[in-house]
Amino acid sequence: MKQKLLADSLPTVDTFRWLNERKEEMAGLLAELVAIPTENPPGNNYRVCTDLLERRIAELGLECQRIVPAGAGGVGENVPASLLASYGSGARTLYFHGHYDVVPAQSPEQFRPVRKENFLFGRGACDMKGGIVAMLYAMLALRKCGAELKGRIGLMLVPDEETGGKRGSGRLAREGLLGQAGVGMLLAEPTSGVVWNANRGAISLRVRVLGKSAHVGLQHQGANAFERMHRVAERLQQLKREVEQCSTRCAVGTDQKRNSILMLGGQSGGGTNFNVVPAECWFTVDRRINPEENLAEEKARLLGALEECREIGVPLEWEVLQEGCSARSDESEALGKALSRCVREVTGKAAGFEMCPGLLETRFYAEAGMPAYAYGPGLLSVAHGPNECVDLRRMVDCAAIYALTAAEVLNG
Ligand SMILES: [Zn+2]
Repeated sequence: MKQKLLADSLPTVDTFRWLNERKEEMAGLLAELVAIPTENPPGNNYRVCTDLLERRIAELGLECQRIVPAGAGGVGENVPASLLASYGSGARTLYFHGHYDVVPAQSPEQFRPVRKENFLFGRGACDMKGGIVAMLYAMLALRKCGAELKGRIGLMLVPDEETGGKRGSGRLAREGLLGQAGVGMLLAEPTSGVVWNANRGAISLRVRVLGKSAHVGLQHQGANAFERMHRVAERLQQLKREVEQCSTRCAVGTDQKRNSILMLGGQSGGGTNFNVVPAECWFTVDRRINPEENLAEEKARLLGALEECREIGVPLEWEVLQEGCSARSDESEALGKALSRCVREVTGKAAGFEMCPGLLETRFYAEAGMPAYAYGPGLLSVAHGPNECVDLRRMVDCAAIYALTAAEVLNG
């Protein structure tokens, strides 16, 4: 690592050294967080997890505010509370953002964190409790190094990301509680060494096609929902051929494609037995839009195709399973440039900018008009899997990158 001062604020080497000396302390906090099964769905143990985080943040000497938006739902142990920890002064805020819920474990052992040399294994280690610890320690590093910030860092910790963020960031955004006075946002998702500056949007539906039940011998008295569903699927395949022509200009990972996506039948079902005319059949539709496309327009197009089926006499209804907009922040924004420089400064390697294939909570901040990027210590390839882990050296690197980027952006 080069000895250099970044934006008249923070010595890279001192910051990194201070953080590296705290690697075990960081690993300890991460292990405690991993041991709390904040599985979502259904959204368990949110209280235990936010209590621990709140206590630790206070012990470490940072301000912390608990936020439970009105109508957020959930009861007792599982109220979907968010925490906002902050360091610095004034209104101008650079947001750090992380979710403390995790996808369900493949086995209960995943909630017993295991240390193997430089790696910590367990559900959420990479997605994204390791990222949360890195962000928290980035703030501590800034304080310990005596960095005077012209503004503040707000670390927003939210629940429910793994199920679309409706009761977490979505609710906070609707109530005007997300990104106030924000100059930008960094998200600690597992990005495998690249920066995600864009994400696809999503509109996912379950479509139910209705018919009339009858015994196979009397099928003329029934109406076959499966055969009707076939007509709907054909219409949607036509739409698929049209919408998948759209290709994004964003860079994508080597294993990914640039086209817009419409996937049919991720789940499907219906009927009661082979010898009964099915009275109902259902299937899912997962439409993923590119950053250049508009969610409302693409939703209208999809629902329009279903309306057409209705008009030609196919009785059907649909339910929206999830909905989220696409977003894109230019890599030439001051925050994007600072992040890129600090990644190179700490790791010695430049980070490429790519579009995330899925939804990202950067979208809530981008929608509010500020640049938002994801960069975190984990590998996407182990997130949500049975061998989820994080490299603790990467966690330290990321903490240094977050600290240096914040100092540069707020003071630059
Ligand atoms: Zn995540």
